[in-house]
Amino acid sequence: MAKDYIFVEDARQNNLKGLTLKLPLNELIVVTGVSGSGKSSFAFDTLYAEGQRRYVETFSPYARQFLDRMDKPRVARIDGIPPAIAVDQTNPVRTSRSTVGTMTELNDHLKLLFARAAQLYCQGCGRPVRRDTPETLYRELSARAATAHEGKALITFPVTVPDNFSEQEVRELLARQGYTRIHRQDGAVLEVVQARLRLTPQRRASIVEALEAALKQGHGRVAVYPLDAHGEARSPWRYSADLHCAECDLHYRDPVPNLFSFNSPIGACATCRGFGRILGIDYGLVVPDTNKTLAQGAVKPWQTDSYRECQGDLMRYARKRGVPTDVPWHALIRAQQEWVLEGEGSWKDKCWYGARRFFEWLETKSYRMHIRVLLSRYRSYDLCPQCRGARLKPDALLWRLGDAADARRAGITRPDHPPGNGAPARTSLPGLNIQDVMQLPISAGHTLFDALRLPAPLDAATELLLAEIRSRLRYLVEVGLGYLTLDRQSRTLSGGEVQRINLTTALGTSLVNTLFVLDEPSIGLHPRDMDRVIAVLHRLRDAGNSLLVVEHDRQVMLAADRILDL
Ligand SMILES: [Zn+2]
Ligand SMILES: [Zn+2]
Repeated sequence: MAKDYIFVEDARQNNLKGLTLKLPLNELIVVTGVSGSGKSSFAFDTLYAEGQRRYVETFSPYARQFLDRMDKPRVARIDGIPPAIAVDQTNPVRTSRSTVGTMTELNDHLKLLFARAAQLYCQGCGRPVRRDTPETLYRELSARAATAHEGKALITFPVTVPDNFSEQEVRELLARQGYTRIHRQDGAVLEVVQARLRLTPQRRASIVEALEAALKQGHGRVAVYPLDAHGEARSPWRYSADLHCAECDLHYRDPVPNLFSFNSPIGACATCRGFGRILGIDYGLVVPDTNKTLAQGAVKPWQTDSYRECQGDLMRYARKRGVPTDVPWHALIRAQQEWVLEGEGSWKDKCWYGARRFFEWLETKSYRMHIRVLLSRYRSYDLCPQCRGARLKPDALLWRLGDAADARRAGITRPDHPPGNGAPARTSLPGLNIQDVMQLPISAGHTLFDALRLPAPLDAATELLLAEIRSRLRYLVEVGLGYLTLDRQSRTLSGGEVQRINLTTALGTSLVNTLFVLDEPSIGLHPRDMDRVIAVLHRLRDAGNSLLVVEHDRQVMLAADRILDL
């Protein structure tokens, strides 16, 4: 039977002087002591190191080579140690692809939720894009027929004449299946009549049957022509069984989770490859001193020995074109400044190439270190013109969770005009897209998801996802991080913030029988927030874990089951 304590004999790591003791498992233990007493040497360099080392040993030799291995601590013997996790304050993240959302795994959950439960809106007309079934079509038709006082209607489906068939052959094939009436023809597309009937509730069964057959024959497309009193067809109502806005004839891809991830090529904006910003050239840095004339070297990058040739080209072309070279830059007219920067054509065509083509040429050489250094001096990081910083393809942002009221409550303001009114639909669609959720303070996201009612019926997996998102957001609010946003880059977080995020992630993974080692969680925390962190620590302990906390905050000590004073 496993012992219910960790036994440490003769620990001598760093400044520890032969420490021997028993630490009960499943307790919150605070390690304290004056500076230099060896608190960290004991908690991190001995217990965590050994717990981690033994845990890594359980992997295959192949997997082990990818894991950080810690040196064996200087200790005679350690028994009964569970796998250890350090929740420390070091922030190892250096890439802009890591955000609070990816650290907390909330991004993974959100992209799954969007793929399963979000509603698509058409970018053309702003209407919800739905997959139609004969039943939903019938309901929609009855509603439309009632408001329009329509009586009879033609139900038709489109058939495209394939290249290797003549129209006559297709018409004969249709006739053999009983389709003898073509309502109209548009190029190679025939609109074949499925049925002509009265849109009344009494005819429900035949209407649904006709719609079903038409959807099948039309590969998911039908058009219904209401007929006026004289039997003349009016403009049609078009429907579609896949993600297709029949009104605008726009097709949409089925949502896969990675459509909502800027870390995936499927979802990432094609222009900025998911970074939200694009590298450009800051022409304010190219001409830093507007008092200089062209002859005095107003264009800075051409004043070095390497690019003196370009300065010569500039002077030569300027004289040819009558652009003054002895007038300060700020006194040149705008067209002349633009001529210098934009040029007039390629150098291959013996034209003035301008600063822009010069930098484009440099970009092609940016595999060379000194060119990269040169470019970096003139860099600007401009908002991506395609996604405006959303990092995602435009299609991804048409998917919405919740409704207009949810968005209002979350503090998202949208233009007041209804979609499809000449306004770009994307900015005025109801609900929240994934970028909205990413930019929300976590506390507002917590409120939003608690109140969010997804359209019923929800399957079990979606329920689970929603519950997981709610609890993770709640943990983050509980440890006082409600002010962060999910799109906040990890590398800009403080050590204390990183530690508390890691703590909530530990809560979210529902680990048991684990030793959590923490380094001064009180740092940078308001006493009120400390209460919440202590509550999280207690919850981890009550879930069957052991906690070792290096700390000298009174509040934490009072909350501990045991204090180890070194
Ligand atoms: Zn549309
Ligand atoms: Zn972009």
